[in-house]
This record gives sequence, structure tokens and C-alpha cells, in this order.
Amino acid sequence: MRLPWQTLTPHTAPVRGASSVLSMLNFVPPCGTTDAHSLELLQDFVSRASRLFVITGAGLSTESGIPDYRSEGVGLYARTDRRPMQHAEFVRSAKSRQRYWARNFVGWPQFSSHQPNSAHKALQQWEERGKLHWLVTQNVDALHSKAGQKRLTELHGCAHRVVCLGCGGISARKELQRLFVALNPDWKAQAGAVAPDGDVLLEDEQVLHFRVPSCEDCGGILKPEVTFFGDTVNKVTVKFVLDRLAESDTVLVVGSSLQVYSGYRFLLAASDRKMPIAILNIGPTRADHLAELKVGGRCGEVLSVIQPF
Ligand SMILES: [Zn+2]
Repeated sequence: MRLPWQTLTPHTAPVRGASSVLSMLNFVPPCGTTDAHSLELLQDFVSRASRLFVITGAGLSTESGIPDYRSEGVGLYARTDRRPMQHAEFVRSAKSRQRYWARNFVGWPQFSSHQPNSAHKALQQWEERGKLHWLVTQNVDALHSKAGQKRLTELHGCAHRVVCLGCGGISARKELQRLFVALNPDWKAQAGAVAPDGDVLLEDEQVLHFRVPSCEDCGGILKPEVTFFGDTVNKVTVKFVLDRLAESDTVLVVGSSLQVYSGYRFLLAASDRKMPIAILNIGPTRADHLAELKVGGRCGEVLSVIQPF
């Protein structure tokens, strides 16, 4: 049988020109081409699964032009001294919220325009073909839902939604953008590089006059519906995902180093259940010792040649 990757042609996703190719590849860590033997092993692994549980992370979205946090050389931590917002600081400090939202406002047009890549599209196809039982993502960029994924849990929420800390009301982030524009008609700032959560870097004096609205219903604090660092994932969500895991027979990790416990815990649970685990990621992960198969490679390149049968 001729395997699909033996006819693999160079990646031909539509791009808007050479500069956008460069900007996309910017955030993908250096990585050689995945060898045919590894692809064959991964294909066997996927073929043996009938109810596949997939967990994805930032490594999936780097090919869409969104940087990750931890990759050597290209991740946010390696390139800058910026660190994500801490939950307690956001709740405690109006000044921190003003800075956060000003930066998020500037970064939004670029951040919200990112599109799913061939990895997101492949996983959506796997769902449609009945291979994928459930997908859990640690990403907040909405790229799985943009790709049409339905059997999906966004473990850390989604930057495209806003939650009121007072009444719990949920609204669309794009609506808040309109409010920001209306409240800040003369406010101007330039967006630099955008972080995995839509953050950009602005100087303090730039954010001083930025006006942030409160909840229209209760006057409460508005926050992206995203789990900030220092916060914990909702227990109901964790239980829901563990139930989906229990219904699955195989686990595949795609594009995550699993450094954050909220995702890693599902690998521990899968290991307790003696479920076969495979990992597709550039670089080492916290769960390598739990996996029967580890494949290094770009998620989009690899997943688009693995067939869901
Ligand atoms: Zn409210």
C-alpha cells in the first residue's frame, strides 16, 4: 500500500505573501522533517484507536502565527521578559486591569484574525469521521471552534468571550471592542508583537487614559473568560473532561509540553487507566515517560498526512 506521506508535497496552505509566511514560521521552534517510520508508527497508533481523546496546546497554534510561552528561542518567555497576567493581580488592581485591557484592546484586531491551520482542520476531520471522541485544548485562541470542532472543551476558557466577575454574565469579546472604541475615541497606541493570550506591550503612560467599562447589568469587573495564571480550572469542567476521558480508549497529545498541571492531570488519569498514550510535539514534554510513542514534528505537517481510519 502506498502510504499518504510517501506522496507528501511541501506545505501549501494559502498565504497572503512572503512576509506572512515569515511571520507564521517565526513562532514554530526549529524542527526537522518527521521521518517516515515515526509517521507510520503514529498512523498505526491512530488506526488502533476507536475513541480517541486528544489534548492540544500552544504548539498547535504556532503554525497559525500565535507564539507559545515556553519553546526555546521562539516562545514568549525566551524572547521577552513579559509574563502573563496573574489572576489575583487582575482582581485586586484597577490599574492592572486598565493596563491589561488597553494592551488587549490594541492586540485584538490581530489576535482575533488568526485562522486555523492544517492541524486544526485535520482534527476537525477526525471528529467528522468518528475517530475523535473528545478534544481538550489548553489554547484560548478559538482556532478549534473556528475550524468547526464540536466535541471540544476549552480547558482554560476562550479569549473571544468576556465574563463578569460580579454576576457571571458572559458576552462576546468583539462587543467589548466596540465599547472600548466608543469610550476611547481619541486613544491611539501601536500594537507590537501579540502574546498567546492577545496581550501586547504598551508603556505605562500610554494606558493612563484608557477607559475600561464595567458590566452593564451589575457594574462588576469584566475579565476575559480565560483561566489566568494563579487561578484554577473549574471543578465541573475537570470532572466533565475526566468523564469524556473515561469513555475514550486512546490518548494523543498534540503540541503541548504539558508543563501546566491542569492539562498534565489528564495524562496521569489516562496512565492510571492504562490507556495507550502518544505525543506529537517539538521538544520534550512532562509526560514523555507515560507515552508509548513520541513523535517530533510540526503538528500541521504531521496530522494532515495521518488518516482517521
Ligand atoms: Zn455583571
